[in-house]
Amino acid sequence: MKTQVPVQKNKQYDVEVSDLTYQGLGVAKIDDFPIFIEDALPTELVTILITKVKRNFAFAKALTIKRKSSDRVDPVDGAYTQTGIAPLQHLAYPAQLTFKQHQIQVDFDKMKVPVEVAPTIGMDKPFQYRNKAQIPVRMINGKLQTGFYRKHSHSLVPIEDFYIQDPKIDEAVVVVRDILRKFGIQPYDEETHKGVIRNIMVRRGHYSHEMMIVLITRSRKLPSQAEIITEIMDQLSEVKSIVQNINSKNTNAIMGTRNIVLYGKGTITDQLMGLDFEISPNSFYQVNPTQTEKLYQLAIEKAELSKDDVVIDAYCGIGTISLSLAKVVRKVYGVEIVPEAIEDAKRNARINHIKNCKFVTAKAEDQLAKWQQDGLDPDVIVVDPPRKVG
Ligand code: SAH
Repeated sequence: MKTQVPVQKNKQYDVEVSDLTYQGLGVAKIDDFPIFIEDALPTELVTILITKVKRNFAFAKALTIKRKSSDRVDPVDGAYTQTGIAPLQHLAYPAQLTFKQHQIQVDFDKMKVPVEVAPTIGMDKPFQYRNKAQIPVRMINGKLQTGFYRKHSHSLVPIEDFYIQDPKIDEAVVVVRDILRKFGIQPYDEETHKGVIRNIMVRRGHYSHEMMIVLITRSRKLPSQAEIITEIMDQLSEVKSIVQNINSKNTNAIMGTRNIVLYGKGTITDQLMGLDFEISPNSFYQVNPTQTEKLYQLAIEKAELSKDDVVIDAYCGIGTISLSLAKVVRKVYGVEIVPEAIEDAKRNARINHIKNCKFVTAKAEDQLAKWQQDGLDPDVIVVDPPRKVG
């Protein structure tokens, strides 16, 4: 039986927004048919224009907001709004935190896991916190630009102030952009798969202030390489490593697998929970250092760890959680699927003179079963999986 779709493309409707999706779209229903609306918040009365109709749902944009939510705030800035960087920037931060708590509660409820989700712990200043940026480089009207993609597209909106990044990182991106302009380096073109520079990646240690610049290129050849390195070193005194990462594939993945160290050791060191961590260009390292420490500290407290405890750290990455816990327990077993991350974890254990951690490369799902078979009986298991388990 074919059900009738109650809305038509390019038509306007008045709706009341009842919910919000993970992507920051408002949800309204007409005859039980869900419509996902850009820039609309729960409780708002909105006149919408339908932009796309599917069998079971439709997309729309808000034309006029007839009744505003009391949680609506002004967007940060125009260029920023055109991109998808911050899809909830029109929602006040305290309301964002409540929204997150609600979403997680809904997920647990769906899985029929009886958990009461606690209020989200937010930041004091929820901006200028990210310790890493990966910025696309493209040609716009004959000029090399750095910025971010327009919503639902791959065209670039030039941006200098990214608002959520460490401002020293924003500064570095502009400096590197100007150096690339000076030497006439060709930006990557997705359509022709030509050009040299695809992305600029910058990492800056929150405590150490050591900076790493990664130039992600399509080809091995980077014209004016020596001059570019000299200029970067002259202008950015915090830079400890410059790396070229080659990504020759026609893909959305930002980084390739091959790194060439152009200057320095190829890594930077930063501190977390009072420990030193050496970070390589491809390593996973939490991007919000302030919240990471709050989160790890809370996990340590809630787990009520003691000197005799054995802990498993599933999805351990470069071992940041394992090594933070190691000081207060007898033994930590870490498991992680990426071999390089396990190498980093082992090296980080050595750097910090920690000897009671064992790191294994495997799928956490398999290794947990294996440890169980081997008779390992952990007191605490810490689980920090990626959003999608690969
Ligand atoms: N706990 C670490 C890393 C968390 S990110 C930290 O706080 O820094 C999640 C990690 O899970 C990534 O390092 C990813 O490589 C790893 N991972 C993904 N799928 C996995 C699987 N099936 N088994 C084990 N690790 C996996």
